[in-house]
Order: sequence, then C-alpha cells, then structure tokens
Amino acid sequence: MTRVSLLPSYDDQNGWLEILGPQPEPVSLTGDIEADHVVIGAGYGGLAAARRLAELNPDQSIVLLEADRLGNNAAGRCSGFIIDHAHNIRAKGFNDDTANAKRGIALNRAGVDWLDEIVHREGIDCDWRREGKIHAAASKKGEETLAGFAASLDAVDEEYQMYDAAECQRRFGTGFYRSGLHAPHSVLVNPAQLVIGLAKTMPHNVEVYEDSMVVDVDFGLPHTLKTLQGSVRTPSLVLAANGFGEGFGFFTNKLIPLITWGSMTRPLTDDEVDRLGGEDNYGIIPAHPAGTTVRRRPDRRILIRNQYTFSRKSDIVTGIEKVKRTHEKSFRNRYPMLPEVELEYSWGGALSLSRNGAGVCGPVAEGVWATMVYQGTGMAKGTISGKFLAEHMMGQTDPLMDLLTSGAQPSRNFPDPFNRWGVMMNARWRRAQAGIEE
Ligand SMILES: Cc1cc2nc3c(=O)[nH]c(=O)nc-3n(C[C@H](O)[C@H](O)[C@H](O)COP(=O)(O)OP(=O)(O)OC[C@H]3O[C@@H](n4cnc5c(N)ncnc54)[C@H](O)[C@@H]3O)c2cc1C
Repeated sequence: MTRVSLLPSYDDQNGWLEILGPQPEPVSLTGDIEADHVVIGAGYGGLAAARRLAELNPDQSIVLLEADRLGNNAAGRCSGFIIDHAHNIRAKGFNDDTANAKRGIALNRAGVDWLDEIVHREGIDCDWRREGKIHAAASKKGEETLAGFAASLDAVDEEYQMYDAAECQRRFGTGFYRSGLHAPHSVLVNPAQLVIGLAKTMPHNVEVYEDSMVVDVDFGLPHTLKTLQGSVRTPSLVLAANGFGEGFGFFTNKLIPLITWGSMTRPLTDDEVDRLGGEDNYGIIPAHPAGTTVRRRPDRRILIRNQYTFSRKSDIVTGIEKVKRTHEKSFRNRYPMLPEVELEYSWGGALSLSRNGAGVCGPVAEGVWATMVYQGTGMAKGTISGKFLAEHMMGQTDPLMDLLTSGAQPSRNFPDPFNRWGVMMNARWRRAQAGIEE
C-alpha cells in the first residue's frame, strides 16, 4: 500500500467559486465499489479524460475522484483564459521553429474547440466569451517585448491587432498601458463555473465523487484506492493530480511544485464604474511573463494575478498576506481612480512545471496512466491532454496526439536545496525584470 505523500488542502477564498453562492451538498465516495476506470483529480486533465473514456466506452463504468469541492482546485482558481497560443510572450525562441509553433497552437485550439463544443451542447453557464486576450505593455521594455511577439505571430501567420496608448485607455479605462496586442481566438470564462459545469454534465456512465481524497493506493491489477470513507478497485487508473502529482510515487524529483496567486475586488459601485470608464469586460496578459494578469468582469469585479512561489508541500495558504499586499499595489498602480476599492478575495492554486518544459500524457506503470504538467496554462492544454490520453488508452492515434504522447518526459530536477534555490532565484529575478509590469 502506498501512502499518498502530497495531499491538497484548499481554503474557502477562491473568489470565482465564492461569488457563485452556496453549492449543493457534495456526493462523496462511501463504501467499497469497483469501476472499469478511475480518474483522480477533477481539473481540466481529469475532467477531459473521464468524459472521453466514457464516450469511447459507453458500456464501462468510470469513477472520477476529487479531493475537494468541485471548482475549488487550480482549475477553478485560475484566471479563466482558455488560450490558443503562448500565454507568456517568449519573443526569443517562439518562432525559431515555425512548424512546431504551429502544431502547438493547433493542439491548444483542439482543446479550446472541444470545450466550446461541450459548453454549447450541454448549455454550461460559465460566462463563455470568445473575446481573445490582450497582451499589454506598461513599460518601454514591455513594448519591445510586444513588438517581438508581433513578429513571432507574423512568422506563424497568426492574426492580431495592435492598440496604441489611447486605444488601451479607451478600452481599459486606465492610462497605465502604453500599448497592447489583441489576439482574437482565446476564450474568457468563470473557471470555477466551467469546472462545475463539466463535472455535472458527464456522460451517464461517469460517477463524480467530491470530498473524496485518495489517501492510499495499492498498485496492482486491480489497483485499490482508499479514500477516507470508501475504496474503489479498478484495473485502469488515470492520475490527473497535477500540483499534487508527485504524491503518488511517480515523477519523484521531476516536477517543480509552484503556487500562483489571484485576487478579486468587490463589485464596483455605479460611481466607481463611471469614474473608471472603459469597457466592462476584458482580459489582459502582461507583456512580461512575471507581470500582472488582469480581468475586468461584467459583474463589476476586477481580478489581479501575479507571482509564483515554490512550495514543496503545494501549500496555498502560507504567505497569502504578503501576496495580497503585492496584489493591492498592482491594483492601485493600474486603477488610481479607485483608491477605496478593496480586494475581497485572495487565493493560491498549485501547479506542476517541469524543468525542460515537457508535460506528462501516457502510461506510467502497468494499468496506470497520467496527464499533468501543462506549464501553467492547463485550461486548453490540460483538456486536450486528458482527451488524447483517453484516446491513446483505447488504442487510437492522431498526429496531434503524438505531440503529447510521444514527446519528451519531464527531466530530473537538480537535487534540493539547489532546485528550490534555483526556482526561487529565477522567480525573484523575473519579478525584478518585470518592474512596473507587476
Ligand atoms: C491563480 C491561477 C491563475 C491561472 N490562470 C490560468 C489561465 O488563465 N489559463 C490557463 O490555461 N491556466 C491558468 N492557470 C493554470 C491552470 O489552473 C492549471 O494549468 C490547470 O488547473 C491544471 O489542470 P489540472 O487538471 O492538471 O490540475 P488541477 O486543476 O490542479 O486539478 C488536479 C486535481 O487533482 C485533485 N487531487 C490531487 N490529489 C488528489 C488526491 N489524493 N485525491 C483526489 N484528488 C486529488 C486536486 O484536488 C485537483 O482538483 C492558473 C493557475 C492559477 C493557480
């Protein structure tokens, strides 16, 4: 029996979930059951894998186990940009290999399109808007990065539109930004609502259990998974635990556990909306990767996201006060006309990255499969990885799938404390480089 060594422990400060109001009582796993397939983790990877396994095997039973409440994970705590191409601008390298860059975009788009199809077929209410994202620069250096990004997009024949400072001010209400690049194909949503909607509209042969943390696993054929109140036996197990993935004994010293943080204001009053001006809905990606993501929402709230913290225990609580102070500063820099507006919620979410940028999508042991590690942009990537993993398990092939299933594996980290120091120093260096873009 393997004791799961890294377990999620989320708080009730996820603004996206809290603004939805009370949720129905969770259905947890109780008693001892069996299933043809079990998926651990109701994030984008796990939700997609469970759905696709069910679609491909309508006569088989699929169990999806989630440790917490639906939507109270990184998937439901993220900023809600379902992106089709590079979230963070890598001016260098993005267009070194245009064929690969195009395949990467096609892969993300397959994830966006599959989600689009499900959301509209199932009528999932998640404020789905195919508005695109605006990469915006607040500094001269940021403007140079944007110009590099535009050149990268030209190289892969991607459409975009540039905004000057006046257009940024007209759209955003604030004069903080010097220029912007609108890339039209990404989607903005309330991520917690999307996660709940995806889980609630599963095919008939999927049972979803919330508050059902897997604490012990007996790997074998069949595997036995123990939760606090029940157990399930299965010959086929999918691990989709991402930020907690290392806890199952695979990928030891290969994943980099990080927390990134979001905050959301209270709703603006009529007077504050008038003072701010601008459009009532937009999503801004910072020109610098360590800068601040911003979303203004039709419900009159504004979201701020920045900073990455290394946490071996994927701890999303320690340090939250310090993070919140930085979020407040980032908010006030952008919206000086709203000095009295407070952040109502601040929260963290756990992710796994890998040193070489490779993700996980494939078998890891006999009857054990895994999908995880999407380098911080898992809405589209995690969805398509989960879907392709299910198809791969059923023997299907697809040239796009090969990008995930036959690619590189996460490389080994430097031993701790060097790994931790390296990641922390890198994060600090990036923050310093971001300057006022934070
Ligand atoms: C603040 C923030 C902003 C972000 N913004 C964006 C964005 O705008 N766009 C984007 O694409 N990505 C964004 N991300 C990244 C995105 O959230 C992740 O890439 C994505 O959630 C990964 O999905 P996942 O399914 O792999 O993992 P998760 O969403 O973490 O899901 C894994 C699940 O496994 C469960 N689990 C773990 N261990 C166990 C266990 N023992 N038993 C049962 N269940 C278990 C966890 O509770 C969790 O629900 C952001 C992340 C954060 C935190």
